[in-house]
Amino acid sequence: MQLANPELLQTQAYIDGQWCDAANGEQIDVINPATEQRLASVAFVGASETQQAIAAAERALPAWRNQTAKARAQLLRRWYELIIENSADLALLMTSEGGKPLAEAQGEVAYAASFIEWFAEEAKRLYGDVIPGHQADKRLLVIRQGIGVCAAITPWNFPAAMITRKAGPALAAGCTMVLKPAEQTPLTALALAKLAEQAGIPAGVFNVLPGHAIEIGRTLTDSPVVRKLSFTGSTAVGIKLMQQSAATLKKLSLELGGNAPFIVFEDADIDAAVAGALQSKYRNAGQTCVCSNRFYIHDSVYDEFAAKLASKVAELKVGNGTDASVNIGPLIDYKALDKVQMQLQDAVSKGAKLLLGGERLAGRFMQPAVLTEVTAAMMIAKEETFGPVAPLFRFQDEQQVIELANDTEFGLASYFYSRDLSRVWRVAEALDYGMVGINTGLISNEVAPFGGVKASGLGREGSKYGIEDYLEMKYLCISI
Ligand code: ADP
Repeated sequence: MQLANPELLQTQAYIDGQWCDAANGEQIDVINPATEQRLASVAFVGASETQQAIAAAERALPAWRNQTAKARAQLLRRWYELIIENSADLALLMTSEGGKPLAEAQGEVAYAASFIEWFAEEAKRLYGDVIPGHQADKRLLVIRQGIGVCAAITPWNFPAAMITRKAGPALAAGCTMVLKPAEQTPLTALALAKLAEQAGIPAGVFNVLPGHAIEIGRTLTDSPVVRKLSFTGSTAVGIKLMQQSAATLKKLSLELGGNAPFIVFEDADIDAAVAGALQSKYRNAGQTCVCSNRFYIHDSVYDEFAAKLASKVAELKVGNGTDASVNIGPLIDYKALDKVQMQLQDAVSKGAKLLLGGERLAGRFMQPAVLTEVTAAMMIAKEETFGPVAPLFRFQDEQQVIELANDTEFGLASYFYSRDLSRVWRVAEALDYGMVGINTGLISNEVAPFGGVKASGLGREGSKYGIEDYLEMKYLCISI
């Protein structure tokens, strides 16, 4: 891994503006999932370092909060610019530790940076309210203030964007943050911290702790100083963190699992639907929480859609994401690969047909697959796949497919293709999801509210709503 700016390869925790090893010297190896070679050994910290980081964030809070939003925005703008200037290195780090193809990693760097830029701008416009009084001698006002010290725990599948989508609004709102990145992808997180340091973000405002998940999570949730926790990851861990946060009544944002339906109606533009399916399913080798998981195709267009999708999937090239011609990188680990293979075998054993792909290759790679004649009885209908497999179900009518699409505990992203305006409204309103892509397979951006309902979580990130999660409302009643 040859970085243009070697300073971005940081292997120590970042606490109170200092780069430090774990107190007990513990380290963890970061492995490239494509080559299975060790990239670096990174400090692996625990409870005591977490306490230090919380204390640093608490100390840094008053000075950071008391600046004008404009002053904070200028530093955040500089951080944004440095991320853009260093995007080639950040993308290479991301591909090396997470496996996604370089072009996707470059896209993620731009996406990640956009949250910093957006929230720096938004924070300047956090207006309050003047409420007509209930008595002649009273004046009532509402002001909005940053909630205080925030914690963030992030996953490996978007090693940069899941961090900036939290740190951007938090810092812009005048909060300070302690972040625990995923153990698989600490290098991107630490490189972002290096750039924050270079941008002049003061010591203690943004702290990064690679380390023991359970220990750090417990220390963060137990701390009364931490007023908010933002988590992106699995539903099981989200529930655990919510339970752990109950005793200190933290405000929570939880971006959890999904099980996205992708519906193609008989009146859809089939070529557009195939293009959307490719984008939404095979990005990051199917390892995103908004990846389509269940494809419901109307009976009358099923064979056409399946054939066209298979011919496009056949063109996808599997390999190391640093090769510019590669579209599908490795899966993150063997557990992920085993899960996808098990779902495939279960489906085939119950009557599904493997139209294309699915073979396990050397290392952590597999051929992207298209499965047809999939039914609700198969494991793949219920569980999130998190791999490059598109299972195609047949449906006959609108009401039936809405029921099938909603028949899941999850409610994050959903997609459908139709050219009938009335149907577009009807179906969009009937889907129990936080997000609906209509005639598109790509929905994520910094200006829109990202988030789910049901077991997919709480709160929204990005957009003018995303900063609300980092604010408290304060009511002032003035007697004159
Ligand atoms: P994934 O399947 O994407 O790895 P996880 O929910 O296991 O999803 O992980 C997401 C993030 O949550 C990672 O940073 C991981 O280290 C962290 N994590 C996992 N278990 C816990 C826990 N018990 N407490 C706090 N953080 C945890």
